[in-house]
Amino acid sequence: MDAAVGPGSSSPFYANEEVRPGLRVAFTAASAGNLALHVGDEPEGVRDNRRRLERAMGITASSLRFMSQTHSDRIAVVGSGGVTAAPDADGMVSPRGADPLAVLVADCVPIVLADAGIAEGGTGATAVVHAGRAGVSNGVVANAVRVLQSQGATDLAAWIGPSVCGSCYEVPEAMMLGIARDIPAAASRTPSGTTALDLPAAVRRQLALSGVMAGEVHGAGSLCTLENPALFSHRREPGAGRIAGLVWRT
Ligand SMILES: [Zn+2]
Repeated sequence: MDAAVGPGSSSPFYANEEVRPGLRVAFTAASAGNLALHVGDEPEGVRDNRRRLERAMGITASSLRFMSQTHSDRIAVVGSGGVTAAPDADGMVSPRGADPLAVLVADCVPIVLADAGIAEGGTGATAVVHAGRAGVSNGVVANAVRVLQSQGATDLAAWIGPSVCGSCYEVPEAMMLGIARDIPAAASRTPSGTTALDLPAAVRRQLALSGVMAGEVHGAGSLCTLENPALFSHRREPGAGRIAGLVWRT
């Protein structure tokens, strides 16, 4: 865990690990503040939170790339020095890993992907993906893997961050059955026996079908956004904010 980022402030991270030499994967906690511009918070406050996060990550100010997420299946390829506006996409690839990437969630599944580093003979590519119920259905995870592979990645690994778990995401039976028809791993039940969706299990299966194993993330408390008050959950508190999944090379 990284040290506190300022007087009186706790760590902004739920988890923050060097998962490979020179490659860091992190997921923020609610202590990082809301990082999304679209949930009604004053934009300057969100930008302050983003600046504080960049300092805690140890990266250049304004270098962290965000997406304009719409539950689409689109993947944007971003490059250093180009347009810095948030692309209209739900997955984002940095072909050499030069750009620090962020994905915002509050119950949906944040996924980080990375190829082996350039020193290990890989492309160094990194990616983030946003997959909620729509993303699990539309194949955005497989799309991201395809884009990475089309850029030359051959040694991909993935990390799945905090999201609503399969015990908490209650949905109507018809919805569960409709999604489970294509992705059986998505079928789940709440403790009271009602139908639910297990989005992280579905994403893990989709990654495996694309030939990518998902690594573990070791955070503080439950990985379920709804059960862990240190994380933001849209279902628990609509509009409270978004946490970020992050990947960057050091
Ligand atoms: Zn849960």
